Amino acid sequence: MKLFEDFYIYPWMSFEENNCNTIFIDGNPPVIIDPGHRHLFNHVIEGMAKDGKIAENIKVVIVTHGHPDHIEACELFGQDVVKAISFEEYKYIRGDGRELFLASGSEPPKNDWKIFLKEGNLKIGDKTFKIINTPGHSPGSICLYWEERRLLISGDTVFYMGVGRFDLPGGEEERLKQSVKKLAKLDIEYLVPGHGEILAGSRVIKKNFQVILDEFF
Ligand SMILES: [Zn+2]
Repeated sequence: MKLFEDFYIYPWMSFEENNCNTIFIDGNPPVIIDPGHRHLFNHVIEGMAKDGKIAENIKVVIVTHGHPDHIEACELFGQDVVKAISFEEYKYIRGDGRELFLASGSEPPKNDWKIFLKEGNLKIGDKTFKIINTPGHSPGSICLYWEERRLLISGDTVFYMGVGRFDLPGGEEERLKQSVKKLAKLDIEYLVPGHGEILAGSRVIKKNFQVILDEFF
């Protein structure tokens, strides 16, 4: 599904399918964010094909955090594809976070992580994203802010009328609250969360942050 120009979303469908919103950003190089569950990745391949895009051309995989429903499919990409995760999250999926994989009979992806994401600018081709550390849902969660488009990819930190769970291993309510406060200061026209609806319009998004900060913590 095309959101605009070079930005595509393959949305989370249902709890039964339990995938996440997978994002494809076309360009040089083509980038995918949060490829989702390994066994559900076909829905991304098929969705991209409908949009005339070829998943095999993807050159960069970025993950917002290390939960199975966001990163399992990283393993499906070859060694020539650059994979990026925050260092905190890299440690997490080898520690406490591994439990979540084991619980569903899987293991964290065994691929090499070529880039450890740090807070600050990340240049990919002609696009610049701001990496924002947003711990709370997991210790090394990050969000990506595309300033030029005023678009925030918020992973499982913020949703439409909700925030990510903080009762999973490595989650912390106070850190999540601070992360949400940090994001609320940004000028956002599109909010693309890890699950559920995509929000458009800065007024709607400001209101969403306000309700969350007033009622969820
Ligand atoms: Zn998660």
